[in-house]
Amino acid sequence: MNSFPVKIPNWIGAQEQPTERDEWFDKLNPANGKFLCKAARSRQADVERAVALAKKAQPAWADTPAVQRGLILHKIVTEMQKRQSEIAAIVAAETGKSMKEALGETGGAIQCGLFYASEGQRLYGRTTTSGAANKYAMTIRQPIGVAGLIIAANTPIANVAWKVFPALICGNAAVLKAAEDTPATVWIFAQIAKEAGLPDGVLSVVQGFGEEAGAPLVAHADVDVISFTGSTDVGRVINRVAAERFARISLELGGKNPLVVCDDADLENAAKWVLLSAFSNAGQRCASTSRVIIFEAIYEKFRDLLAEKTQRLKVGTADDCDLGAVINEGQLLNMLAAVEKAEQNGATILCGGKRLTDAEHKDGYYMAPTLIENVNPHDEISECELFGPVALLFKAKDFEQALQMANDTPYGLTASIHTRSIHRAVRFYDKVQTGVAVVNAGTHGSEPHMPFGGRKLSGNGSREPGTEALDVYSELKDVYVNIDPMQV
Ligand code: ADP
Repeated sequence: MNSFPVKIPNWIGAQEQPTERDEWFDKLNPANGKFLCKAARSRQADVERAVALAKKAQPAWADTPAVQRGLILHKIVTEMQKRQSEIAAIVAAETGKSMKEALGETGGAIQCGLFYASEGQRLYGRTTTSGAANKYAMTIRQPIGVAGLIIAANTPIANVAWKVFPALICGNAAVLKAAEDTPATVWIFAQIAKEAGLPDGVLSVVQGFGEEAGAPLVAHADVDVISFTGSTDVGRVINRVAAERFARISLELGGKNPLVVCDDADLENAAKWVLLSAFSNAGQRCASTSRVIIFEAIYEKFRDLLAEKTQRLKVGTADDCDLGAVINEGQLLNMLAAVEKAEQNGATILCGGKRLTDAEHKDGYYMAPTLIENVNPHDEISECELFGPVALLFKAKDFEQALQMANDTPYGLTASIHTRSIHRAVRFYDKVQTGVAVVNAGTHGSEPHMPFGGRKLSGNGSREPGTEALDVYSELKDVYVNIDPMQV
C-alpha cells in the first residue's frame, strides 16, 4: 500500500463526509502503538442522516430485480479481487496482523461476496399444494427495509462481507457501523461499492464508538433489522433495545469454545489445530479454541507437545509469524489481568501469560501465546471470553466426561473433537450444544456458504451467512391465489 489514509470520514450516501460536529478520534497502530489515522466520531445526528438516506434509497433498490442487484454486487466483488492486496494491506495495518493473514481474510470476504451475488438468481420461495381446489399456495421473499449492521474489529473485511452482501442482495438498504478499531477497512469497502455502481444511499458507513454511533442505530425507529457481531454484554443491551420496538435482530456473540482431544486422536494433527484455533489472528475470533479438554490417558504427553509447539510460535507482523498483535491496549491489559488473577487462584502458566516487552514488540500490543492448566471449569477465566491468544487445558477421564465439560459453559458457539473413532465423532457432533461442530480440525474456519451462529449466550438463534442469512434479511410472505376455472 502506498499510504494509509490520514483521515477516515463517514460515507453517507455515496459521499465521504465528516461528522456534523466535525469530531474525530485517533486510531493507533496495534503493531507499534503509534498514531495511524483519525476517524470520524459520529453521533446521533450522523446516524439519522445515514438512516434517512437509506430509507429514501431502499424502495428503488428493492424494485431492482434481485438478479440485477446481484450483478452490482458482483461488480463490487470483481473490484475487491482487483484490489485484494490494497484491502489486505489496510486490514493488516489497522489490526496488527500479517499481510498473509489479511490476504486470507480478504479472500474469504470475496468468496462470501461471490456467493451472495449469485443468490440474486436463487431467492427461492416455496411453491406447494393447497387443501382446496383451484387454489395455489406459495411463499415469496421480500426485503425488510433498512438494515443496521454493527461489526467487531477482529476480522474486519470478512465481517463487512458477512453482513453487507446478504443484506443488500435481499433488497434492503444498509447502514454499517464500523468497529472503532478498524475504520479504514470499512471506508475502503464503501469506496469500492460506490465505484462499482451501488446506488446512492443503499450503503452508508458511520464510524465511531458503540454508545455514540451504534446505540442510535439500534434505537432508530426506521431501522427494521439489526445484525450485530460482538461481545455478549453489548449483545444483551442491543437485544433489549431492539425487542422494545419489535425490530428483527440477529446476534453473533462470544464463545468459550472447547476442543476435545481423545486418547485415540492423531496428536500431531490435534496440536496443529489447537495452535491455529487458539492463536491465529491472535486468538481474536468468536470461534477461537479457548478450552482444550484432553483425555487423562494422554494428558501429559499432549500438554508437553502443545507447550513445546507453542513456545516455538513466532509473534509479529511478518508473513512467517504465527500471530500478530491484539487490537488495542485495553484488550491486552484485560487479558493480562485475567491471567494474573487465575495465577493467584492457583493456575499454572505453562507458557506465555505475559506481554512481550523485547525491543521488537514492546511498543505494540503483543501477548505471548498462553497455555494455562490447573484451573477450575467454573473459575472466572474458564467462563469469560478473553478474545486473545489464551487457551486453558482441562483433563477428562473419558468421552462422556469430556462431552459434559464441553457443554458445561454459558456459551455454545463452536466445538471440535479429535478422534479416530466414528462413534465418538458422531456422538460428539450430535450432543454438543453449539451451533458449529467440527471433527478433526479447529473450532474456527466456518465457510461463507454455511450457517454460523451459536446457542446459549453465543447468540439468539439466528444463523448467518449461508442461505440461512436470507431469512435474517428478508420477510417471507405467504401467498394464496384462488382462480375460477369458469372464467377461463
Ligand atoms: P469487541 O469486544 O469484539 O470489540 P464489542 O461488543 O465491544 O465487541 O463491540 C462490537 C461492536 O459493537 C463495535 O462496533 C462497537 O462499537 C459496537 N458497540 C459497542 N457498544 C454498543 C452499544 N451500546 N450499542 C451499539 N453498538 C455498540
